[in-house]
Amino acid sequence: MKLSKANLDQKLDHTYDAIIVGGGAGGLSTAIYLARYRLSCLVIEKGLGRSFWMQHLTNYLGLSPDTPGRDLLKQGQEHALDLGVDFLNGFVEHAEDKDDIFSVRVKVGKKDSIYPTFKSKYIVAASGLIDNLPQLEDMQNVYDYAGYNLHVCMICDGYEMADKKCGLFVSREGAINTAFVLNWFTPYISVFTNGEFEVGDQMRTKLAEHGYPLYESPIAKFLGENNEMDGVELVDGTKVELETGLVAMGSHYYNDYLKDIDLERNGENIITDEMCRSSHPRIFALGDLKQGLNQVSIAVADGTLAATGIWRDIRRSSPPRLWSE
Ligand code: FAD
Ligand code: FAD
Ligand code: FAD
Repeated sequence: MKLSKANLDQKLDHTYDAIIVGGGAGGLSTAIYLARYRLSCLVIEKGLGRSFWMQHLTNYLGLSPDTPGRDLLKQGQEHALDLGVDFLNGFVEHAEDKDDIFSVRVKVGKKDSIYPTFKSKYIVAASGLIDNLPQLEDMQNVYDYAGYNLHVCMICDGYEMADKKCGLFVSREGAINTAFVLNWFTPYISVFTNGEFEVGDQMRTKLAEHGYPLYESPIAKFLGENNEMDGVELVDGTKVELETGLVAMGSHYYNDYLKDIDLERNGENIITDEMCRSSHPRIFALGDLKQGLNQVSIAVADGTLAATGIWRDIRRSSPPRLWSE
């Protein structure tokens, strides 16, 4: 059932088997499996996540390579709702574990917000991350191209960049090393620092040896039309012609709501076992938030594993069903 401000009250006394934070690829997959295991779950989705900005899902078996992430979300939501999953648009702010029950506080509505608390036995952390983009005065200029031919994921879109003139956009020196992996796909790489940091001598030499130009002046704007970026104009007036780009500026992880829960992590990634169980036995983490490859295929498979792990726990601790029941 679709929940909203108008009807969510009726679910506040219910203890869900699982609350799934994030209704992207991994969260929706988890919900579909949990519902088919006849467990109750609530998906809470803030909107505008990574799979929403994915203009083309280029490498998922069974789907045409021009499938937008939005199609996956729409179809997945409908599938989950048909199976009886509860779905709420809202932002999960905080989770607390007391007496083996989680209290999950949600902000509902960006305006005139309300802050209900839902209860569950398990949490599935499927909230992912969002890629940092170059911060220009006119962000619309960045959004015109980000996710189109200004890519954020080499595994997803290296193939699209093959043998093209590619801008690599970085915000710290270490990220320049991306160039020496990207060159598997294309050697025509120009590196842009947007004037954000100083490049050391060793890295300058390495770039020069590869013949990759380095542009250190801040970016004035991306050039192009119809979501096709074809170059960059720097504030010093330089124009650099490009055919594609890769942003490698790190990410913001959506894990604030877990900050009061002690979890084993590697940096911001949550470490899990092979069933996606974190170091907390009733918190599963999957997809981009957990350590591993950031791909839709992985997030979807993780959802299968997490739901199956939860089902096993609950099934094994339930009494057997008798014919006479
Ligand atoms: P997401 O799909 O990001 O889902 C997490 C959800 O959680 C989001 O919808 C977000 O809104 C929500 N959320 C976050 N915090 C909260 C909160 N506090 N409360 C409620 N909800 C919250 N992968 C591929 O396999 N192939 C591709 O071709 C491909 N192309 C891509 C192109 C672009 C432009 C981008 C950005 C990504 C691409 N990816 C691709 C990567 C893919 O999108 C991710 O790996 C995948 O979506 C991860 O699934 P997930 O469920 O972990 O995270
Ligand atoms: P969030 O972190 O999602 O939310 C900020 C705060 O708003 C939260 O802390 C919470 O308090 C509140 N909140 C959020 N959702 C809810 C909810 N459902 N209910 C109640 N409160 C809520 N952005 C664009 O605007 N246009 C684009 O074209 C665009 N293209 C992009 C392309 C790519 C490839 C990428 C990676 C990102 C793109 N972005 C775009 C994303 C942009 O960078 C933001 O990350 C995204 O829009 C989420 O913004 P937000 O301010 O809602 O942040
Ligand atoms: P397969 O898809 O079986 O691929 C292995 C291939 O290798 C086969 O095509 C076989 O012909 C070929 N092969 C074997 N030996 C050789 C050889 N020596 N030389 C050349 N080729 C060889 N899974 C779900 O997720 N959801 C479902 O709803 C679902 N329903 C199912 C319903 C049925 C009736 C069946 C039979 C299975 C179902 N499954 C379902 C399970 C799913 O089909 C498998 O988990 C999945 O196909 C495994 O993928 P695979 O690539 O490992 O194996």
